[in-house]
Amino acid sequence: MATKKKTAVKRRKYIFVVGGVMSGVGKGITASSIGVILQDRGFKVTSIKIDPYVNVDAGTMNPTEHGEVFVLNDGFETDQDMGNYERFLNVSIPSDNYMTTGRVYLSVIEKERNLKYKGKCVQVVPHIPLEVISRIKLAAEKADADIAIIEVGGTVGEYENILFVEAARMMELQNPDDVSCVMVSYLPVPSKLGEMKTKPTQHAVRALNSNGVQPNVIIARSSEPLDQVRKEKIALFCNMRPENVISAPDVESIYDVPINFEKDKLSDKLLASLKLKPKKDSSLKEWRKFVAITKNTKKEVNIAVVGKYFSTGDFVLSDAYISVIEAIKYAAYVNGAKPILTWLSSEEFEGDEAKTNLRTLSNYDGILVPGGFGSRGIEGKLSVIQYAREHKIPYFGLCYGMQLLVIEFARNVLGFDVANTAEIDPNSPHLVIDIMPDQKKKMKEENYGGSMRLGAYPAILKKGTVAGKAYGSKKEISERHRHRYEVNPEYIERLEKGGLVFSATSPDGILMEIAELPESKHPFFLGTQFHPELIARPLDPHPLFVEFVRVALSQRKK
Ligand code: GLN
Repeated sequence: MATKKKTAVKRRKYIFVVGGVMSGVGKGITASSIGVILQDRGFKVTSIKIDPYVNVDAGTMNPTEHGEVFVLNDGFETDQDMGNYERFLNVSIPSDNYMTTGRVYLSVIEKERNLKYKGKCVQVVPHIPLEVISRIKLAAEKADADIAIIEVGGTVGEYENILFVEAARMMELQNPDDVSCVMVSYLPVPSKLGEMKTKPTQHAVRALNSNGVQPNVIIARSSEPLDQVRKEKIALFCNMRPENVISAPDVESIYDVPINFEKDKLSDKLLASLKLKPKKDSSLKEWRKFVAITKNTKKEVNIAVVGKYFSTGDFVLSDAYISVIEAIKYAAYVNGAKPILTWLSSEEFEGDEAKTNLRTLSNYDGILVPGGFGSRGIEGKLSVIQYAREHKIPYFGLCYGMQLLVIEFARNVLGFDVANTAEIDPNSPHLVIDIMPDQKKKMKEENYGGSMRLGAYPAILKKGTVAGKAYGSKKEISERHRHRYEVNPEYIERLEKGGLVFSATSPDGILMEIAELPESKHPFFLGTQFHPELIARPLDPHPLFVEFVRVALSQRKK
């Protein structure tokens, strides 16, 4: 008699990472680092982010307010924490792993409208936490993860994230051995006292307790290491073992965090709380190798980043370009150099001061113009690009930085002095950057989101070009996009005749993905329509960034 073969269902485990006391103390880096140390013990890990805001995704948020919008392979626009997860875990994460209050409510309401609740009264509790749980489980299943790490945005006790903590409680109630909770809490050292205070953390744990959840581990973030006295105090008042209170003082680099966690044997503790036996000893071999390089480089490479999303009030904010910064760092390290980044506001290169400020650009080994939107600071960026081209300073343009490279070339080399992008001057007689016909239709219908090219697309490389060589033996690449405009096909022939090379195009040859000047004309003058920074990882730096920094360094020697 034929017997049915049974396939064992994998028992997945879940770690919730919640914040106590205040935000901004490294919850995302903690969640990412926990991923790294558990991967190191032989487990398949995926990371999930829950953001409490009502926006359905991060696409419509201003980068100065919220930091960078990180785009996933499938085109979903998310929070920069997803970038940290991808970089730390060295995996690509799908949109299933990201949810906001808005997204959760939207799907519950849609289900209700589609009679999925079979006439029941749909309530905030339990239906919202149940939707959260089903999304968490689906994400873990799709990733075939042994362990899913779920970072809950905000801090405990906040009205906004209470339903997410409720989801954690419900999951734990169902399978206590499968769910663990880590609280990342802040311990202030008031300058007048000079002593580390544990009371705010005690209150945060009480707030979590009042939602029915007890942390298994507390990550004690502070300017200084936690001493044994305070460890024991937190343990006593927060109802846990002292060894599960982990000291997490400020560190020089975020990449030190996994290594520091393992000094306190955090992976052992987490695995024990999930009743899992490690599959491998802790080693973090590759990670340690990378961190050692970051600390041992002596020579420097000076890169100027010219952008506009830098300042809010009195503060300079580089969060808007976090992936760009990290991508430059990884490329510098593999080239044996320490990256020195300088932020230059594009508006400095407009008006009376422009000439003087442009001259200072010769102090840099390379110049990078990252992505952007709108017209503020554009003329300044164009002057910077022209200066880089004429003075043979390595230039790397990302997305808008590539479109502006094409405009600059059209204006100053081809002589189309009014060349522009439709984003700035739709009436320009020379729209070298324009919107494609199918997108025009969507824009008319005010479907702005739908008119963007988002996510990973393939591109074909041209042999013998700067880009072709940088990517090594690859003929086809896959890169992530987030833009509305493209190089206008009507101008391609003229641009090429003038000497610009399109070294990668879409497989059908219609969309220009990389523009560059040949090596004989300029050491490195290259722009990508896509965002290479989104797939640069510490253990797998991006080839174009690596080449940009290599050339920047080699020019320096001359
Ligand atoms: N604003 C340009 C566009 O929409 C470039 C976008 C970007 O740099 N991400 O096409």
